[in-house]
Amino acid sequence: MASQKPHLLVTNDDGITSPGLLALKDALVEVGHVTVLAPNHNWSASGHVKTMHKPLRVDEVTLVDGTPALTTDGAPSDAVALAFLGIVERPIDMVVSGINRGANLGHDVTYSGTVTAAMEGAIAGVPAVAVSLNSHTHEDFSVAGRFAARLVRQVLARGLLEGILLNINVPPLSADQIAGALVTRMGLRIYRDELVRRLDPRGRPYYWIGGPPPTGVEEEGTDIWAVAHGYISVTPIQLDLTAHNMLSTLQGWDLAL
Ligand code: MN
Repeated sequence: MASQKPHLLVTNDDGITSPGLLALKDALVEVGHVTVLAPNHNWSASGHVKTMHKPLRVDEVTLVDGTPALTTDGAPSDAVALAFLGIVERPIDMVVSGINRGANLGHDVTYSGTVTAAMEGAIAGVPAVAVSLNSHTHEDFSVAGRFAARLVRQVLARGLLEGILLNINVPPLSADQIAGALVTRMGLRIYRDELVRRLDPRGRPYYWIGGPPPTGVEEEGTDIWAVAHGYISVTPIQLDLTAHNMLSTLQGWDLAL
């Protein structure tokens, strides 16, 4: 009975033509009815966006395997919002975002279009999972896809607490090379950004944030350690950004007007 299958919204931030999106869709058709609505170009490191000052377009397209899909000129989080606000008629049970080219570890989640698309799902009140592969060149998304499908099945069966999503990072290894899967906490990313200053053809300076890719503190128990040691990392993250350990200290401050 097709109508009883869970309805999964698949999106990403690398854009509708990304092979990672296709791999995720392929893995999830075994789990439920899949609708793809993804941005029409790459939005990597776009953060959590709500487009409010320009119109958004949605177009019907087909993926390279012929599967019908929807694409938008909005951000990944816009794509999820559009789906929930009526572009997708059938009620959505879960949002799955990815498979991203490149890891989303530690503070990356605050920049990540992949993760913020999943956050938009959590805001809409459904469980959500973000999936990233720790490589920009590895072409085999099958291990990440298979793991995502297994985890999505469990999320559908067990549920997630409201406002919580799962951030999955997969090392670019074959199934027999993967050390296993670990539940982790967010680690500390070390960004090595450098400001590049150049001159435009009219002699005015412009700036480009460059530099080598980020590293991270390899502390055991973190997402960064897990992926560096060949494990798939599963980190529960939440929309509640309150620093609970600061509340009582702050209450002791003089906050009088
Ligand atoms: Mn990306």
